[in-house]
Amino acid sequence: MRAAARALRGARRVLVATGAGMSRESGIPTFRDALTGLWARYDPEELATEAAFRRNPARVFGWYAWRRRLVRAAEPHPGYHALVALERLVPELVIVTQNVDGLHRRVGSRRVLELHGSLERFSCVDARHPFPADAVPEPAADAACEPPRCPRCGSAVRPDVVWFGEMLPERVTAEAWDLAAACQAMLVVGTSGLVQPAAQLPYIARDTGATVIEVNPDPTEVSAAAHIVCSGPAGAMLPALVAALTEGEST
Ligand SMILES: [Zn+2]
Repeated sequence: MRAAARALRGARRVLVATGAGMSRESGIPTFRDALTGLWARYDPEELATEAAFRRNPARVFGWYAWRRRLVRAAEPHPGYHALVALERLVPELVIVTQNVDGLHRRVGSRRVLELHGSLERFSCVDARHPFPADAVPEPAADAACEPPRCPRCGSAVRPDVVWFGEMLPERVTAEAWDLAAACQAMLVVGTSGLVQPAAQLPYIARDTGATVIEVNPDPTEVSAAAHIVCSGPAGAMLPALVAALTEGEST
C-alpha cells in the first residue's frame, strides 16, 4: 500500500482502468450475471448484437431497460468516492472503464472514458443519430419494451453500448491508448484482464515506464504486468490507498 501511494505521489499523470469487478462490488451484475429471471433463457449473443436487436428490438430494449433499473438502484461503494478524492490529489487523473453503468460519473469523477459506451445514452440503429435519454420509455416490469423511433430517420433507438461484433468507439479508444503510454502510474481495478483490446493497456503503460498497480481480490491476467498488487476489494483498498497518500503528504 505504501509503495502504491509512493508511485501515485510521484506521478503527474495517472490512468485508472476499471472493469466489471468494480461494478459487481456495488451489486451490479456482470454481463453474464445479468441473464437471470426472465432473461435466463437467452445467450448474451441473443441480446447484445445488432442482429438480435433488429430481429426483436422490443426484447433487447426491454433487457436494457431492466439493466438500467438495476444500475439506478445500486449504491456506488466507497472505492468510487476514493477515486473522486484521488482526482483532487494528483495533477491529472483519467478513468477508463469497460463498465456501461455510469457510476463513476454519478459519484462525480470528472474525466471518464467509457470504452464500451453507456446504458444511459441512446442513438438510432441505422445512422446512430443521438436520441435524448429523457425521451426513452422506462417500463416498470421486466418485460419486452418497444424502443422509440428516431425523429430524423425513423429507425429504432438502441442503447449506445458496444455490442458483440462492433468496434470500440474510435476517439475514446485512441485517447485511452495515448494516456496509457503517457501516464507515470496506472491503477487497474476489478478487471479480469481478459477482455481485449482493453487488456493491453497495462502492458502499454508498463512498457513506457509507468508503475502498474493492480487492485483486485484475486490474482488475474493483469497481475503479471503489475509492479504492485493490492489484494482486496476496491471498496476497501482504494480508500486505504487514498488515506496512505494523504498521510504521506502531511508528514
Ligand atoms: Zn436516425
